[in-house]
Amino acid sequence: MKVLKFGGTSVGSVESVLTLKQIVEHEAQKQPVVIVVSALGGITDKLLATAQLAKHGNEHWKNDFDAIADRHHRMINTIITDDQAREELSQTVDALLEQLRSIYFGVFLIHDLSEKTQNAIVSYGERLSSQIVATLITGAQWFDACQFIKTERENEKHKLDTELTNNLVRKTFVDLPRISLVPGFISRDKNTDEITNLGRGGSDYTAAIIAAALDAEVLEIWTDVDGFMTADPRVIKTAYTINELSYIEAMELCNFGAKVIYPPTIYPFV
Ligand code: ADP
Ligand code: ASP
Ligand code: MG
Repeated sequence: MKVLKFGGTSVGSVESVLTLKQIVEHEAQKQPVVIVVSALGGITDKLLATAQLAKHGNEHWKNDFDAIADRHHRMINTIITDDQAREELSQTVDALLEQLRSIYFGVFLIHDLSEKTQNAIVSYGERLSSQIVATLITGAQWFDACQFIKTERENEKHKLDTELTNNLVRKTFVDLPRISLVPGFISRDKNTDEITNLGRGGSDYTAAIIAAALDAEVLEIWTDVDGFMTADPRVIKTAYTINELSYIEAMELCNFGAKVIYPPTIYPFV
């Protein structure tokens, strides 16, 4: 089996999400695949910025929330052509958006944004995108990452409980569907049940955790560059793709700031 992760850039536009569908459906003809997706490109930043507006009592949070909702509605209306599927998906998405609006309203009323609330807010990016992609891909089965990606609090940080998570991942995917669809990034605290996450860029890590736990043949991280490069091509125009890297070299590159892969992503493989 293969694990394929698609980042925000791959679910950012109608064109890219349709390419994702083609890649996944092609791969799934050869072997079972687990697909991990990020939030629609730029949505995570927007969710956080809107939370700050609400916290500071700024009425504009409503406009920003409407823009977030609109972005998802437009995506659904463009890419889901089957009427019944679109109707069902819209109901799911609208229910999620309604919850999100209520949380923002609470933050706005009491001018308080705890870490717990912020984590709940930011989780909606992947919760929404994964539902959309699961409907788009024929035959995909949606899985709730919070049921098997478990964290615990250590030194004021949320840290993955690797053993528990590995066991839960193996149990969840014991009968592997042809196409499984998992929201990246999000997790749940194993003690308090509160929604947590693996840190910014953490969808890469979700995919790596699943790939390692299921002993996948391959983990593919699809993004807007062709691989690890000698430098960030947005900054250094002459940067070029590195053909081969050991896990250790990849980890070093990430730890020294190559923002192409979230650093802990390599841990499950070394
Ligand atoms: P995604 O949304 O798919 O997770 P990211 O933005 O997290 O994508 O990562 C891809 C981006 O990482 C590239 O567009 C590139 O600008 C940047 N990047 C930074 N350093 C490197 C590097 N050493 N090699 C390749 N890309 C890099
Ligand atoms: N959506 C999250 C972020 O922007 C996680 C990810 O994209 O990997 O940080
Ligand atoms: Mg990324």
